[in-house]
Amino acid sequence: GCGRSDSGSTGDSTSGSGSGSAAASGFAKDAVIGISLPQKTSENWVLAEKLFNDGLTSAGFKGDVQFANGGVSEQQNQIQAMVTKGAKVIVVGAIDGSQLGTQLKAAKESGATIIAYDRLLTNTADVDYYIAYDNFKVGQLQGQALLDGMMAKKPNGPYNIELFAGSPDDNNAKVFFDGAMDVLKPKIADGTLKVVSGQTDFNQAVTQGWKAENAQKRMDTLLAASYPGDTALDGVLSPNDTLARAIITSVKAAGKPIPVVTGQDSEVESVKSIMAGEQYSTINKDTRTLVADTIKMVEALQKGEKPNVNDEKSYNNGVKVVPANLLAPVIVTKANAAEAYANDPTLSPLTK
Ligand code: BGC
Repeated sequence: GCGRSDSGSTGDSTSGSGSGSAAASGFAKDAVIGISLPQKTSENWVLAEKLFNDGLTSAGFKGDVQFANGGVSEQQNQIQAMVTKGAKVIVVGAIDGSQLGTQLKAAKESGATIIAYDRLLTNTADVDYYIAYDNFKVGQLQGQALLDGMMAKKPNGPYNIELFAGSPDDNNAKVFFDGAMDVLKPKIADGTLKVVSGQTDFNQAVTQGWKAENAQKRMDTLLAASYPGDTALDGVLSPNDTLARAIITSVKAAGKPIPVVTGQDSEVESVKSIMAGEQYSTINKDTRTLVADTIKMVEALQKGEKPNVNDEKSYNNGVKVVPANLLAPVIVTKANAAEAYANDPTLSPLTK
């Protein structure tokens, strides 16, 4: 797949197949803004729906917010319908960012600007901007948290661990995994970490569809095959909270002590689990900020201005380097939860 490029290559500056350039001459304030979201595989996507509806309305736009719970072809149809409605900006959180080329081309040809939201759109020239929390950094923070958590329990290794990744159709999954492996690989190489199953490749670690049941099944299998008797499992790299809870469920069912398990998304049930001393860490990627900053990009485009970008080298989508607006993720453990969620009315009370 494509994704974050470490090469620092600047690529070309193709602006897509459409006639309109990314920051053209603006458009009417009451234009339709299409928001195409994937399946509700984690809480952040559910939160985004209401935030986009409310935020676009209060900014004076006509929001058209759609979920594609039925899968890729439903998302393709929804984007095509947004083009038909004359959407001026289409914001896409893709199920599979490589499968939307035809619809994105039609959107560009109709004069729309395309913003990839949270997940990159790949193998197409027809994407203008990317906005997301820095995904590679998310992975690095998860890898470091896994190490820190295990060292806090037992100062010296070796530590027995297992590795989980997200869904391979989501471009982020590989980027998260690569970020984590950036931290973990040297420790595997020097013997501090032992992946007892031997499954260290992304393709062995993936969780189709980001589904909890798939992670739980794989953990059951790993435990049965590689952790007989009282063989210790010290830590598990989990790419998000939904999968972290599934992994913990599996370990509990096997009658083993809960290992250090990472996560992401600051889901309510995981924040509770962290405060109860079960899940070790999560990542705060405040959806309110991500949506608000996306709407700021839409507002800039409406005025004919260039939207804010702060990274023009990291996200090569296979065809072009997509200018990105990257936000900073924050690692959260029990130790800093109160501080991390201080201004979050839903999560803050859970940390008291
Ligand atoms: C998002 C994560 C989320 C996952 C599953 C990813 O693309 O960046 O925050 O946990 O999708 O929904």
